[in-house]
Amino acid sequence: MRFDLITIFPEFFAGPFDHGILRRARETGLVEVNVQDLREFTKDRHRTVDDRPFGGGEGMVLKPEPLFEAVESLLGCGVGDASNPGAADPKTAIVLMSAAGKLFRQETARRYAQLERIVFICGRYEGVDERVAAHLVTDEVSIGDFVLSGGELPAMVVVDTVTRLIPGALGNEASSQNESFSAIKQESMASGERAGQAPPPQPEAVNARGRREPESAVTNHVLLDFPHYTRPAEYRGWGVPEVLIGGNHAEVAKWRRAAALEKTRRNRPDLA
Ligand code: SAH
Repeated sequence: MRFDLITIFPEFFAGPFDHGILRRARETGLVEVNVQDLREFTKDRHRTVDDRPFGGGEGMVLKPEPLFEAVESLLGCGVGDASNPGAADPKTAIVLMSAAGKLFRQETARRYAQLERIVFICGRYEGVDERVAAHLVTDEVSIGDFVLSGGELPAMVVVDTVTRLIPGALGNEASSQNESFSAIKQESMASGERAGQAPPPQPEAVNARGRREPESAVTNHVLLDFPHYTRPAEYRGWGVPEVLIGGNHAEVAKWRRAAALEKTRRNRPDLA
């Protein structure tokens, strides 16, 4: 998997990819991270990337030309124009980080982990000329219902989340199959712990420029992770659930399913 990050602050990315799972994934060649300075695609003396908004108002807007040219340079091919729009490569996502985008979720990350390449555009100021969202990118993605000052941190969040889903990135493969937001296993359905049946994943819909249709809300039937405990078995008078110490694997599994459901209901009633 190759990640390209287009930004006006390339130094922002010094550090975050040098630790833990991301570092190992880079060292073993599972992922490659390339940071692209947007200003290299400006042509004026001041290396201007932004301009005032048409229609007036506060702030500055990132201009379309450097962004289109940066993406075309990275991809090694043109994306076309209004009279002749280019087709997108299904193995590459071009992602605009945007507070007004579609919500990034674990299922989005699972889909991205199947790709060969993701190019991120990190916005700044008031945001990005809308023609970028409409005609350059395949996805416009938000990491949550809040506004940050730039797309760099959101892009890092996506890179981190996707990387740990690439086979071989985690030391123990099981750990990404049995955590918060992973799909519910059939066994827990059969035990009658949940009222509704989780439907099978919907086939992905892709439009003309490779823009993906919204993920179906019904596939979001997931549980949060169960609570974890480690030594000491008693700390300041607070113990650990007896069942976890007993060594009965079936009982442990049953307790974990029930505890995950309870925690999901308590912290995220919208999911349960
Ligand atoms: N005027 C915009 C906010 C611009 S913030 C609005 O009201 O929606 C500047 C940049 O930060 C954005 O272009 C985007 O790249 C990034 N950003 C801010 N919040 C984000 C979020 N929740 N998810 C992803 N990117 C975000």
